[in-house]
Amino acid sequence: MAAEQARAAALVAAARDGDARALARLVSQVENGAPALRAIMAAVAPYGGHARVIGLTGSPGVGKSTVTSALVRALRAAGRRVGVLAVDPTSPFSGGALLGDRVRMQDHATDAGVFIRSMASRGHLGGLSAAAPQALRVLDAAGFDVICVETVGVGQAEVEIAGLADSTLVILAPGMGDAIQTAKAGVLEIADLFVVNKSDRDGAREVVRDLRTMIAMGTWPQGGWKPPIVLACATAGDGIGELAERLDRHWEWLGRSGELDRRRLARAREEISAIAVAAIRRRLGGVPGDSRLDDVAARVAAGKLDAFSAADELLS
Ligand code: GDP
Repeated sequence: MAAEQARAAALVAAARDGDARALARLVSQVENGAPALRAIMAAVAPYGGHARVIGLTGSPGVGKSTVTSALVRALRAAGRRVGVLAVDPTSPFSGGALLGDRVRMQDHATDAGVFIRSMASRGHLGGLSAAAPQALRVLDAAGFDVICVETVGVGQAEVEIAGLADSTLVILAPGMGDAIQTAKAGVLEIADLFVVNKSDRDGAREVVRDLRTMIAMGTWPQGGWKPPIVLACATAGDGIGELAERLDRHWEWLGRSGELDRRRLARAREEISAIAVAAIRRRLGGVPGDSRLDDVAARVAAGKLDAFSAADELLS
């Protein structure tokens, strides 16, 4: 155990010194739930809390990857070190399947100030919330100023991304009936900013108009944050400067309003309960033939015990 801790500490120190291979190894170990996971998380804990986390979500094809790449370029021009985690909730594969083959992100492949990693969402604990928060903490400790978390907007994943991010960006594009669906899916609640991408296409202005109507119908508390809409053409880089500026303003607001602390506390709570629940699940699973769960289950099935009392017994 002590040796494992020393190894983790050495890797973290190397990553903090800018060693990209050490960082890649740390992220892989975290992602795989390697035995060293605990030691790594303990080693990074003192260095966390500095990075700004930006979540990007939207339907497939709206231009998430292109927007992310353009945003990374803008952030790099401003001298920031940037980490990118692309989480694909639909893919059981990881380690480059999603972004590795994307030419747009390869613009940054040789930039030491950029770290890019694709992850499958089904980690060892299950769900997007499993490995992504830990990977975020590793990148944070490694000294990245901004971490972009990109995920396809399907089902629960985008809501989870909002839980992870300080600022959540919902990307739409014309021609997908998105604006209406967005309202239905409740994405309005999670968006801190909207990007209407593909402004070079017909219909972009209509999407902006629909969104504006929807935002106008919502109720926004005094001094609260009302999500702005940025019209962009990511392939040409149009609107990305404005996006970066709006993100800066949101960041300022987060700090000023106390919302940043609130979000980060909520994130820590989620993270801890996910780990605790997984630990309980593992314990309940037990070893075949030696499971207390099997024992109480037999009694409940036989009508000798009610399920609530059985659960109490199990947890005590
Ligand atoms: P993702 O699936 O949401 O990550 O979308 P991608 O970034 O992979 O983009 C999907 C397609 O849309 C690609 O062919 C991009 O080149 C294209 N695309 C991205 N942004 C724009 C844009 O602003 N205008 C146009 N016309 N095409 C774009």
